[in-house]
Amino acid sequence: MGAISGKEYKRRLGKLKSNVWVDGKKLEGNICAHPYFRGVIQSQSELYDLQVDPEFDGAMTFRSPTTGSDVGLSYLIPQTKEDLEKRRKMIQCWARHTGGLMGRSPDYMNTVLASFAASVDQLEGEPNAFPERLLRFYEFARENDLSFTHTFVNPQNNRSTLAFLEEDDKNARIVKKTKEGLVIRGAKLLATQGGITDEILVFSAPGVKEKEHAYGFSIPTDTKGVHFVARQSFVQDDSSFNSPLSSRFEEMDSVVIFKDVVVPWDRVFFFENIRAATNLYIKGKFVPFALHQITSRQVIKSELFLEVAQKIIDELNIEEYQHVQSKLVEIVKGLETMKALLAYSEQKAEADEHGIMVPSRQPLLVSINQFQDLYPRFAEIVQLLGASGLMTIPTEAAFGSSLGDDLKHYLQSCNRNGKEKVALFRLAWDLTMSSFGSRQTLYERFFFGDPIRLSQMIYQTYEESSISLVEKLLNEKS
Ligand SMILES: Cc1cc2nc3c(=O)[nH]c(=O)nc-3n(C[C@H](O)[C@H](O)[C@H](O)COP(=O)(O)OP(=O)(O)OC[C@H]3O[C@@H](n4cnc5c(N)ncnc54)[C@H](O)[C@@H]3O)c2cc1C
Repeated sequence: MGAISGKEYKRRLGKLKSNVWVDGKKLEGNICAHPYFRGVIQSQSELYDLQVDPEFDGAMTFRSPTTGSDVGLSYLIPQTKEDLEKRRKMIQCWARHTGGLMGRSPDYMNTVLASFAASVDQLEGEPNAFPERLLRFYEFARENDLSFTHTFVNPQNNRSTLAFLEEDDKNARIVKKTKEGLVIRGAKLLATQGGITDEILVFSAPGVKEKEHAYGFSIPTDTKGVHFVARQSFVQDDSSFNSPLSSRFEEMDSVVIFKDVVVPWDRVFFFENIRAATNLYIKGKFVPFALHQITSRQVIKSELFLEVAQKIIDELNIEEYQHVQSKLVEIVKGLETMKALLAYSEQKAEADEHGIMVPSRQPLLVSINQFQDLYPRFAEIVQLLGASGLMTIPTEAAFGSSLGDDLKHYLQSCNRNGKEKVALFRLAWDLTMSSFGSRQTLYERFFFGDPIRLSQMIYQTYEESSISLVEKLLNEKS
C-alpha cells in the first residue's frame, strides 16, 4: 500500500468501532463527523495528502527496502546524515501546514516506532522479549502507513518515590497471561489523539519498578475493552474566524482505561522485563530520534510566534519602543538557538554498530528543556505586546450585524480594517489565551516529561567537562 492519502486515513477511521467517550456518552457514528474531532481529523488528512502530492515528489516518502513502495519518510530509520536532513525537511513541511501546533502529527509516533525498531538490539537475548515481532510490526506499520496514538505514563494517583509499596489496583498492568495473550487491566494517564488513529502503542514509562508494569505492545484502537475518555473539547466553534486554531488543530487528550484487554501475543514486544523496558528508553534511540522530530517542529512553531509578534507590532505601530524590540529579540534568540542546536545534533550525529545514524542527543535535550521555559515566555510576550487587542475581538457575527461597518472602522489598525485586525488578534488570542492556547503551553512544558526531571537527566548524562583544564591549571608550575 505505501504512503496513504487523507481520504484513506478518514476511510479507515470511519470503519473503526472504538470506545470513545464524550461528555459521559459513548460516541456513536463516524468520528470524522463529530464536532470534537472533525477539525483535527481534517487537518491530519491534509497532512497525509501532502505525502502523495506530486509537488513534493520524493520529499515526503522513501522507497521501502522490502516492497519497493513509496512509504512515509517519517518511518525512515536514518543511515546517513543526508537521511537526517531529509527527515527534518519532511517534518518541517508538515509542521508548516499546522504552525507546529499539532504536537502529535503522525510523524511524531512514526518516529517513535522507527526509534524502537532501531533499538531492537536492546531486546535481543532478553527473557520475555521479542525483537523480531517489534521489527515485523514496524514494517507492517510502515507499509500500511498506520497512524498511532500512545500512552506511557500512569495516572497521577501517587507520585511519591515509595508509591510502588502500595498495592496497585489503578495503573494499567498485566493481570493474566493466557493462550491468546497478555491481559491488561487499569488506566493510563493520557493519550493525545486517542480514538482518532488506527493503533494505540502502549509502553511502560521510564523508571518502571514492578514487572507487571513492564511491557510494550501495540493494538488496534478499537480492541475490545479499550476505552478513551475524552476531556471537554477546546474547540470554541467551527468558524475559522472565531477560532482560527482550535477549529483546526485541537488534538484532544483522553484518559485510557483498559478493561481486561487481551493483547494478542504477536503484538507483545516484551513483558515482565524491567531491564528491557528501561534499556529501550535509556540505551535505545527513542530519545535522540524523538527529540530530533520534536525540535524540528518546535523551530517552526517558534517562527509562527515570531511572525505573530511582528504583525502585532506592525499593526499597533509600536516598533520604536526599545522594550518591544527586545521582546521580539527574545523570540529570535530562542529560535536561532534551537536551529543551531538542531543543526549541531545532525553535525555530531554518529552511526552506531548497525549503521544507524543517530543524532547527537545532548544538544537536543538542551533544546527541549530550554523550550519548556521559552514557550510560556513566547506566549507571555504575545500578551504583553497585544494588550487589550487580545480582548477587543468581537465574533464574526458582530461584523455581519448592523454595527459591522462601525466595527470595521473603529477597530482598524495601521494596515488592516477592523475585521482584518480582529482576525489577526483572534489568532494571537487562540495561540496564547484560549483554552486551546493554554493547553499548547501545558503541552510544550510537559508532553516529553517533567522539565525538572529532564534537566536532571541533562546533568546526569552530560559528558563534556572542563575538569581536566582545571586540574591542569592547578598543577601547572609557573
Ligand atoms: C497536553 C498533554 C498531552 C500529553 N499527551 C500524552 C500522550 O499522548 N501520551 C502519554 O503517554 N503522555 C502524555 N502526556 C503526559 C506527559 O508525558 C506527562 O505530563 C509528563 O511525563 C509529566 O508527568 P505528569 O503529568 O504525570 O506529572 P507528575 O509526574 O505528576 O508531576 C507533577 C509535579 O510533581 C513533580 N514531581 C513528580 N515526581 C517527581 C520526581 N520524581 N522528582 C521531582 N519532581 C517530581 C513534578 O515536577 C511536577 O511539578 C501529556 C501531557 C500533557 C500535559
